[in-house]
Amino acid sequence: MSDVGHQLEAGSRHDLRVGLSPDAPDEDSLRDDEGAFGYVHSYESSSRYDGPGLRMVLFVSGCLLRCTYCHNPDTWHLKDGTKVSAQHVLDRLSSFASALKALNGGLTISGGEVMVQRAFTQRILAGAQRMGLHTAIETSGFLGDKVDDRYLNAIDLVLLDIKSSNPDIYRRVTGRDLAPTLRFARRLADMGKPTWVRFTLVPGLTDDPLNIEGIAHFIAPLKNVERVEVQPFHKLGEFKWKAMGLNYSLSTVEPPSPEQVASVIQQFRAAGCNAY
Ligand code: SF4
Repeated sequence: MSDVGHQLEAGSRHDLRVGLSPDAPDEDSLRDDEGAFGYVHSYESSSRYDGPGLRMVLFVSGCLLRCTYCHNPDTWHLKDGTKVSAQHVLDRLSSFASALKALNGGLTISGGEVMVQRAFTQRILAGAQRMGLHTAIETSGFLGDKVDDRYLNAIDLVLLDIKSSNPDIYRRVTGRDLAPTLRFARRLADMGKPTWVRFTLVPGLTDDPLNIEGIAHFIAPLKNVERVEVQPFHKLGEFKWKAMGLNYSLSTVEPPSPEQVASVIQQFRAAGCNAY
């Protein structure tokens, strides 16, 4: 633990951060039973896009998916993050707590994938709740089977990314299986956990009306899903792929038009979803 004491970096999800903890374990072999320390990309202190009210958003490192449109490939590996203590994160959070509460917000942990560092993020979420803050995570749900109900009890809202309803498209987008995400969505529904579903609209990749129909019909009966957010694909992360020597396959794909986005929102609404 020689590198304990590194500082949590304020900044933006759009900052490129690589190679900050070269001795970190691989994300698929991490054992963080204690969760006293973890690997973090950065945090934003005043987001209005990641849950209700004003939010501090903590971007943790480590992800097992490889989404072709990922904006933050510099969050895939623990070694690219900064090693910090959970207490350090909570100390930083406490300095914003009264402002976040006054503006009906709280803490959102995003990534990367929050559930790669389960003990670390659980400590932070539980600590935020002790401060009286609303807590949220953004997740693909891929590791949902790995967390117990105690983990979920420290979360007031789940922002669940459902990237496709079709297993083949899901695998093409993420490199992984769809089934764990749908299993996690059903579990959240069974426990009545407030959930916002997020869907990224990528022309030529996720925009097949049948794909959207499948997501809409899966979500519509789930009473815990308070809203569906349709997020237009953008290329703000392309420079990271290039800087990291990765092959970005969507260079020639343009973001969807406002009309395309509106039509997909309408499709979700027609199925009975509260879509934006
Ligand atoms: S799940 Fe999120 S962080 Fe992971 S590859 Fe996909 S978009 Fe990137």
